[in-house]
Amino acid sequence: MKSIDLKARIEAQAYKSYGRSFYDLHEKEQFVAVGNAVMEYLVPEWIQSKKKFRDQKQAYYFSAEFLMGRALSNNLANLEIEKEVKETLSEMGVDYNALEDAEDDAGLGNGGLGRLAACFLDSGATLDYPLSGYGILYQYGIFKQNFVNGFQVEEGDPWLEYENPWLVKDSNDTVIVEFSEEDKVEAVPYDMPIVGYGGQTINTLRLWSAEAIKKFNFKTFDEGNYIDSVKAQNEAETISRILYPNDSTDEGKRLRLKQQYFFTSASLQDLIRKFRKEGHKGFDDFSKLHSIQLNDTHPALAIPELIRLLEMEGVEFEKAFDIVQKTMAYTNHTLMAEALEVWSEELFISVLPNLMPYIKKINERLIGELEEWKVDKSLWDKFLILQNESVHMAFMSIYVSRAVNGVAAIHTNLLKSEVIREWDELFPGRIVNKTNGITQRRWLLQANPGLSGMITDLLGGDEWITDLNLLKNLEDRHEDDEVLERFIGIKKEKKQELAEYIQFHEEVDIDSESIFDIQIKRLHEYKRQLMMAFYIADLFNRIKEDPGAEWTKRTFIFGAKAAPGYYMAKAIIKFINELAGRVNTDVDTKDIIKVVFVENYGVSYAEKLFPAADVSEQISTAGKEASGTGNMKFMLNGAVTVGTMDGANVEIVEEAGKENNYIFGMEVEAVAAKRADYDPKIPMRETEGLGAVVESLVDGTYQDNGTGMLRDLYDSVVGRDEYFVLEDFASYREAQDRIAHDYKDKKAFYKKGYMNMANAGKFSSDRTIEEYAGEIWHISKKQ
Ligand SMILES: *Cc1c(COP(=O)(O)O)cnc(C)c1O
Repeated sequence: MKSIDLKARIEAQAYKSYGRSFYDLHEKEQFVAVGNAVMEYLVPEWIQSKKKFRDQKQAYYFSAEFLMGRALSNNLANLEIEKEVKETLSEMGVDYNALEDAEDDAGLGNGGLGRLAACFLDSGATLDYPLSGYGILYQYGIFKQNFVNGFQVEEGDPWLEYENPWLVKDSNDTVIVEFSEEDKVEAVPYDMPIVGYGGQTINTLRLWSAEAIKKFNFKTFDEGNYIDSVKAQNEAETISRILYPNDSTDEGKRLRLKQQYFFTSASLQDLIRKFRKEGHKGFDDFSKLHSIQLNDTHPALAIPELIRLLEMEGVEFEKAFDIVQKTMAYTNHTLMAEALEVWSEELFISVLPNLMPYIKKINERLIGELEEWKVDKSLWDKFLILQNESVHMAFMSIYVSRAVNGVAAIHTNLLKSEVIREWDELFPGRIVNKTNGITQRRWLLQANPGLSGMITDLLGGDEWITDLNLLKNLEDRHEDDEVLERFIGIKKEKKQELAEYIQFHEEVDIDSESIFDIQIKRLHEYKRQLMMAFYIADLFNRIKEDPGAEWTKRTFIFGAKAAPGYYMAKAIIKFINELAGRVNTDVDTKDIIKVVFVENYGVSYAEKLFPAADVSEQISTAGKEASGTGNMKFMLNGAVTVGTMDGANVEIVEEAGKENNYIFGMEVEAVAAKRADYDPKIPMRETEGLGAVVESLVDGTYQDNGTGMLRDLYDSVVGRDEYFVLEDFASYREAQDRIAHDYKDKKAFYKKGYMNMANAGKFSSDRTIEEYAGEIWHISKKQ
């Protein structure tokens, strides 16, 4: 891309979009003009990409969430035009950082599950695989989080208020989604380019927006019709209005069911129309040309819907079932009962009357198989899709899929040995593991240019950008003082940058010489942000007793959104903010420890936090975190993990060594044994310092402004402590104290971080996508 060319394009885009000179635009408008110019540049390549995969099998990632974050820097980096563009913009007098900040995050997801979908698309395009995404164009993404008096307050996220340069509306591909005879809407597709690194392949994320079928009707215009037509429009648009802000919980809401059917039906109609347009007569080849991955059960209605659509095309049920089973694969993301989707039959029939007969047929077929295989009737409740007047989405997904996968080794093993053991016995080999991954393009190349540059220098080339296993070659250099010093210097710089950012956005002064100990992820009791808070409260008490001792300086950083209806999670946020207020202002502690809860944690904030971390907090109750991907982003950026043997932590320490991380707490078996006979009052009484910390929730130390939240928090741990915060506290405290001790020898400490970075190769989503492509989707690359 010639710079001169770009300048002219940007200026022309400003005239076209705003009727003003580029130099008179405000930052958001300037961003749109630049984005449009980049789009104009990449669209010809995008068109080529759409053509090149014709006639070969393609994979489709169906997901209710795609947590994409910003696209400008990602697109420039992957097109390898970042340098030229920055130079051109600088000549034009534009501050690139401000321009970058003017882009709203595409926050179309809650957390890990949605971010995984985004990383997968990046890897698919980079590896030249035909992998498209299908989802929903929510008008409002994940809410914006504000803190008022330490309480979380939610605000809408109207991310589409300004023109979005990355979305292209394709009205020609509009389809109609029919919930029932009387209830139909238009699904209008908006396409976003997914630029692979190197720009060889540009895949597509197709997001559906809901619109009313009958818009303003000119012929029968009168006031009554006008009002009715506007009303219909409003009702239709409600379907894609908002992302449900729940993570790891199932709400069972009517509108949510409509959303799920809306995007899966539209996507399948899209695939069938293209298939016919390409001249296929019957549907014998459908499963040979399509592989659909269901990201959790949110898109599971694709199963009955595809059977229904095939029947409408004249395919009989058994044949349709076979095609659908060969087409679908399902990813399970959780072991937690409250996250498993179950719909009441009554609600289901009232929303989707036409789909229920197909679910019944699938269930009948399953019963036939259970009888044929002589499965004892006492076990049928482990299988039946329809039972207790409800529809079990996970069972349907397992039954009508060619493959079911867990997202980390320990998670898949628990699925096979416990949660869905009976399915594994009935269909051996169907349940497989695909350990999650992250894209190093966003989480290292873009987020941490300093470390990227060092890696490229040391390896003598930048092939690691598409082959992360090459990092292993850096392992030997951990004894090299020069290397280690450079590594430490880069970390220091990133910590300083973050300190300035936090000073500006959170108005808290933090010391970049201190340990940056970070927990960023959705707020959930099982993730145990509360345990880290208890540790800080205990440390505060200890410092108060002996303020003159040689304490290691530490900064504890939290970032997390709580689901708006999740009371306990909101109580934990309030508690941590209260704790921060106390610690950060006390004369004895404020120069030793600091606590910051950053507001509105999301992808863009994450890009600043991961590179600056010394310590990665991955402290879920063992058996609860399916995989985690935040843990991988920290590791790749050279942080050590303080964590339990849960999710991908197990594989992280397998790769990087237990000696380079801080593993603590009960393992899965111990948790199960403890659950049978647990009295939280015992660890509370017997663990030094813990009783005082827990009591401080209710003894007036902290205020909850009369809400009773802290009392409820107290009751939840002292009464039941479902997640074993108190039981694991002693072990966590020991690990944390060891970190503070080890940090005194910085070189030895950062050697551990360096070893983590050098051993992060396995956790590239490129590896994960190669596994899906080869073992589940059976798709091949094209250069
Ligand atoms: C990676 C990521 C997550 C997932 O974090 P976990 O610690 O794996 O739960 C959530 N939100 C954002 C913004 C992320 O980037």
